[in-house]
Amino acid sequence: MLIGDQWITSDTDALDSVNPANGSINCRITTASAAHVDAAVSAAREAASAKSWRDMLPHVRAQILGRISDGIRAHSDELARLQMIENGKVLSECKAQVASAASTYRYYAAVCETLGSEIPPSRGDYLSMTAYEPYGIVAAITPWNSPMTMEAQKIAPALAAGNAVLLKPSEVTPSVGLAVARIALEAGLPPGILNVLPGSGAVTGNAIIHHAGVRMVSFTGGTQTGRNIATVAAQRLIPVALELGGKSPHIIFDDANLDAAVNGVVDGIFEGSGQSCVAGSRLFVHRKVLDRVLQMLVDRANALRVDLPDAQGAQMGPVAGFRHRERIESIVESARREGGEILAGGVRPGEERLASGAFYRPTVITGLDNHATAVREEIFGPVLCVLPFDDEEDLVFQANDTAFGLASGIWTANYQRAWRVARALEAGLVWINTYKQLSIATPFGGFKESGIGREKGVTGVRLYQQSKGIYWSM
Ligand code: NAD
Repeated sequence: MLIGDQWITSDTDALDSVNPANGSINCRITTASAAHVDAAVSAAREAASAKSWRDMLPHVRAQILGRISDGIRAHSDELARLQMIENGKVLSECKAQVASAASTYRYYAAVCETLGSEIPPSRGDYLSMTAYEPYGIVAAITPWNSPMTMEAQKIAPALAAGNAVLLKPSEVTPSVGLAVARIALEAGLPPGILNVLPGSGAVTGNAIIHHAGVRMVSFTGGTQTGRNIATVAAQRLIPVALELGGKSPHIIFDDANLDAAVNGVVDGIFEGSGQSCVAGSRLFVHRKVLDRVLQMLVDRANALRVDLPDAQGAQMGPVAGFRHRERIESIVESARREGGEILAGGVRPGEERLASGAFYRPTVITGLDNHATAVREEIFGPVLCVLPFDDEEDLVFQANDTAFGLASGIWTANYQRAWRVARALEAGLVWINTYKQLSIATPFGGFKESGIGREKGVTGVRLYQQSKGIYWSM
């Protein structure tokens, strides 16, 4: 772990970092106890209150963020491999995520330098202004599916806002957070401003969210964990930002370009083995084109190359762990019991070289209604449920009939309909004739049980600041 400028290793309660592609142990990970959390808060408090950080001129702070971006780019191969051996995503996707993380630091360097305070037109013999100040110490608690990007999306704006950060990476993928922290120290980030505390949610995460010195929590992960964290934050009266789960509807109308739509659907669910919060896991298809779309989907799913994540041309690696695969299998079993028809996948791949990894074939299921377990629960695996629809009103009702509200996708040639349905969907993101297109400049977050708050964009910095109204008599 990293506390201040101290790299601490210990065998007590250490965790194995496991490669899901073959079951081998990558390394042992030191975990942070409540005492370590306390030490990290002390280091962060000292560093965050020092003139050298809180009051650092914005362009100087921006230079450090820019150098972190450069450092990530310079170490991109190493970082991509580190992520790949812990969460099993194919190397090309890991590389793209490293590039995205570097761009995030670059973007928030620019925001840090340009975003200022506000002075509205005077309404009397006084001047009022809004100044934005950091909370002091904020916690970033992250999941395993995309640690490079998720951590950058929290750390870069929190630092730009002038805070110190305690990062609690997922126990499954702690290594890239540690590697980026090393890069950040080399880039001139004052020690104590970024501390990395690997460990379980129950011990390390729990100690962080209860610590009186932690003044804000930015969390990405499962909805139930988010609810638990929000309960603690409510008692402590500290703000939280929550990026949670999803069960995103993906919709194909009968006038859509079916080739483009099916490509979008396949990438939208199977990229990253379906382990994406925005995975388009419920596909609604207009009944007129249902048979054609199902055939295209089955052909595409069966042709997807599931392979070792660093194999040339691999399109899908393993899922991130063996227990996770068992959970996916049990949900597919529930689909069978509830009358679903498995049109593709529903099995582990047969190739001998993949036998010791947590692989699972891309799976297409039909014949279920919107209330079946596989259609309601977030599976977080390569499983697509396909449902027919007849009219737009019923479609919108079904698409919104979920506890989640993260993302959605619409494929149609009718722009009026696209606009109408986009406005009717209860989701924080709507993609029209595209899917999973993401920009750091556009706020990201969920409706309903998919979250509270919006990351990314210029306003992403404001998540990590509190405003102060200042009045002068004139
Ligand atoms: P998770 O909720 O199990 O864990 C996320 C993090 O929370 C981990 O670091 C974990 O150790 C920590 N944690 C667990 N219990 C805690 C507690 N009581 N106090 C403090 N920290 C605690 O999620 P996961 O399995 O790592 O990730 C998968 C989930 O993340 C999926 O539901 C997925 O949809 C969601 N996710 C959401 C987004 C988004 O932007 N909305 C992005 C990626 C993943």
